[in-house]
Amino acid sequence: MQKFYITTPIYYVNSKPHIGHIYTTIAADTIARYHRMLGEQVFFLTGTDEHGAKIEKMAEKIGKKPQEFVNEISAKFQFIWDELNISNNRFIRTTEKAHIQAVQNSLQYLYDKGDIYLSKYKGLYCRECEQFKNEKDLVNGKCPEHNIEPEKVEEECYMFKMSAYQDRLLKLIKNDKLKIRPKKYKNEVLSFYKNGLKDVAFSRKNVKWGIVLPWDKSQTTYVWADAFLNYLTGLGWDGDVKKIPEMWPAYVHLIGKDILRVHTSIWPAMLLALNLPLPRQIFVHGFFLVNGKKMSKSVGNVIDPEDLISAYGTEATRYLLISATHFGDDSDVNLEKFNKKYNADLANGLGNLVSRIITMASKVQNSELDMQFKDIKELNSIVKIDKILQDYKKRFQDLEIDIALDLVQKVVKKCDSYISKVKLWELASKDNKKFCKILYNLLEILYIIGWMCLPFMPEIAWKIWKQLGIDIDNELKKSLNNIKIDNLELNFKIKKGDILFPRLKAL
Ligand SMILES: [Zn+2]
Repeated sequence: MQKFYITTPIYYVNSKPHIGHIYTTIAADTIARYHRMLGEQVFFLTGTDEHGAKIEKMAEKIGKKPQEFVNEISAKFQFIWDELNISNNRFIRTTEKAHIQAVQNSLQYLYDKGDIYLSKYKGLYCRECEQFKNEKDLVNGKCPEHNIEPEKVEEECYMFKMSAYQDRLLKLIKNDKLKIRPKKYKNEVLSFYKNGLKDVAFSRKNVKWGIVLPWDKSQTTYVWADAFLNYLTGLGWDGDVKKIPEMWPAYVHLIGKDILRVHTSIWPAMLLALNLPLPRQIFVHGFFLVNGKKMSKSVGNVIDPEDLISAYGTEATRYLLISATHFGDDSDVNLEKFNKKYNADLANGLGNLVSRIITMASKVQNSELDMQFKDIKELNSIVKIDKILQDYKKRFQDLEIDIALDLVQKVVKKCDSYISKVKLWELASKDNKKFCKILYNLLEILYIIGWMCLPFMPEIAWKIWKQLGIDIDNELKKSLNNIKIDNLELNFKIKKGDILFPRLKAL
């Protein structure tokens, strides 16, 4: 069976979930659901990154123990994933005992083989990034991300011999053995490699909230070394390099562009050092802006995910975020745009089409909606649903998930205009046979729309099928690869349901 392993970054628990987190996770969920739809063996991992000086400080500030603090924030992530119908197979936390043990085992291995060595690190450290900065990354002497001056730090630490892997990595990136997409990010990484990879600090003194190095208890693991290994420990890996987890390597790591460099240097270098295969692809998605500005509390333009869910519901929130931009590009969003899109695509588009067809079909005897009316030429010459399904699959393979989603709208629009053109509602009394025939063909297309919606809005897909009298459990056992309009043998039992997407009031 084809294996498919997809990950989101593990989210740092310095804040509750924001729109960027939910976008990445919904996208990963959509892709995971699509691959399950093909009958593949899918593993979808997400989780929380819970160590570091910053967390220690934040907890202290509000008088909590770090563990207590991270438990609370991590629970908020798990709560919203339930709300958003996220189908992750596992939620990993870096404070889990098994993860800690595996990190210690693998770092011990790297230390024993000489890839980790004791040194002194002198550098400019941004506490907010939890990263050492190069002079040239600073703007007016400040971290451009956080607008604060980094501290000069000189301390004993253990370094990872990343420089030793630079040539091999560069080659792997160049020839797409480690594929970085969209292409512009591959180019960015290649130019970043031109300066050469330097060895990187892998531990810190004086940070208590972290994983203790097994050979030197005065040091704890630097956040990246700890966090990256989640991609393996989430699969149950215990740190033994001879035991590669069944689902490894990842088909794709989804990431934001802020963590591109570390994901294409530190992480694959660690894997080479551990003699483990590299992930096949790293895919970078864009950021959300509001009217051209980065969301921030001080500007007051933050869109809270909970507000989206309460305004639009789970399924439409998923739809609106995925359709907000081409996957991989930044997106400029605001609530007005979301409202417009909701009304146009969902209330007046998909929801209205389903309700129109089901209403007409519910007035006809179920026996008149059977196979005798199957005529794949009638409507398919206009909608060309098989061709659209081919395109849909291709888009998913290329991770163009927003374009795959847009194909649903394409089908909806074609059906709408066909119904208007033939004045279907008038045919009922004029030519009942023709009416039933067209209706049967439309119901078949609705059934396929259900399939197309399944990765994006699983509950909407089920609601569509339910109204058609389709057995959902039975559907979920099928593979999309076998869904073709001329193979369908459906007998519909129409049951009109509630409106899928109630109209929003004007702003
Ligand atoms: Zn910073």
